[in-house]
Amino acid sequence: MATDNDLPSRTRAAVWHPCTQMQHLEAVPPLAIARGEGAWLFDTGGRRYLDAISSWWVNLFGHCNPRINAAITDQLTKIEHVMLAGATHEPVVELSERLGRLTGLGHAFYASDGASATEIALKMSAHYWRNAGQPEKSGFISLENGYHGETVGALSVTDIPLFKATYAPLLRHTKQVPTPDARHAAPGESAEAWALRCAAALEAYLAEHAAGTAAFILEPLVQGAAGMAMYHPAYLARARELCDRYQVHLIADEIAVGFGRTGTMFAFEQAGSAPPFAGETGSSSGLRPEAGSIRPDFICLSKGLTGGYLPLSAVLTTDAIYDAFYAEDTTLGFLHSHSYTGNPLACRAALAVLDIFGHDKVIAANRVKAIEFTAILSEVAAHRRVRHFRHLGMIWAFEVGDAGPGFADRFHRAALAHGVFIRPIGNTVYVMPPYIVDAGAMRQLANALLACLGEAGV
Ligand SMILES: *Cc1c(COP(=O)(O)O)cnc(C)c1O
Repeated sequence: MATDNDLPSRTRAAVWHPCTQMQHLEAVPPLAIARGEGAWLFDTGGRRYLDAISSWWVNLFGHCNPRINAAITDQLTKIEHVMLAGATHEPVVELSERLGRLTGLGHAFYASDGASATEIALKMSAHYWRNAGQPEKSGFISLENGYHGETVGALSVTDIPLFKATYAPLLRHTKQVPTPDARHAAPGESAEAWALRCAAALEAYLAEHAAGTAAFILEPLVQGAAGMAMYHPAYLARARELCDRYQVHLIADEIAVGFGRTGTMFAFEQAGSAPPFAGETGSSSGLRPEAGSIRPDFICLSKGLTGGYLPLSAVLTTDAIYDAFYAEDTTLGFLHSHSYTGNPLACRAALAVLDIFGHDKVIAANRVKAIEFTAILSEVAAHRRVRHFRHLGMIWAFEVGDAGPGFADRFHRAALAHGVFIRPIGNTVYVMPPYIVDAGAMRQLANALLACLGEAGV
């Protein structure tokens, strides 16, 4: 019988956990978290764990951040929510204006999660072509091993077999083109040369199928769910050129990489820059796009948008696309809706996040931190079991060469014993901490990783 404070038993009885075979919770109960503070999670027994993956990549400035807490608390005394059809409010207007200035795009359309942002971008793209008199342009292209969410439409452009295979009969057919993932370069081939070879494959597809294609969706620079696969920015520049030439929309899914994860405010800003793997490219203040930036036709934002506080996502697009929906006729408009569209509390959290970026000069500060943290992780990078150690911005990742079946679970458990909450993807271990993490915590993390790598049976 579950007792009142036996959260692991009660959760197994009442909650269906995401991305989890529930039976496995018998052997590995979930951590029962009582509270959070900064980069740390505290369980109900008072033990603390470093949140080394930012609670699935959403947290930027720590748990219970006083500034974000204050913004939400203030908003609670004004209006918690009002529907956004037929009404508007200051937080959603200000957030849209600021996201517009940051991205170079506009007319922010809101939903509550990343998968819904993908759905919106796909629907808007196809609807644009319909309004433009080319309804046959309704197909989608994505990268091999790409991830764009798991609702039926988003899963159609996702290419992770573990998530996709079971539901294949429900999904729309889409085209996957070769991933520029630098690990797949031929021996002796540079990441850039490989990226350009992949872009040539994209061109070959577009040359034949552009007439039936609405959009190409990709994760700029880092394919997160594929296992933090990193690729050369030349691919982005080339993809932009090709999408222009063949009249196909380019959708930048920055749900994971947006808000500074790759070292610039948005990853697409690095399209024209030098190799990214040192993670120190460019000189952006983070408050306007970089010089080598491309402009996507759509950008999808979510995870970091509210600093990991509240579910919110946004899709921004170009004036040209927006204008194709602007008409007397209702059905030419984008009639998509979600109940919580533009929730004021979530928008206030997002505004507080943008204030922190500006006030603390976070992009510049992270550049300094990234150098220091990379040095702290150098012993991990040199470990005999570690392959393809890579780094971009505030993301570090590597494969474990001799990882057997069940490695991710074993490593996860071993790390917990060392006070670190981390969840490998297959044999890829990655670190993606909240930006407020300090060198002391990173040293503890490095020591925990080394201990786990050295443990018999992990
Ligand atoms: C997480 C993620 C999504 C889906 O977001 P959810 O909020 O989990 O639905 C989509 N695209 C990318 C690149 C992501 O990392």
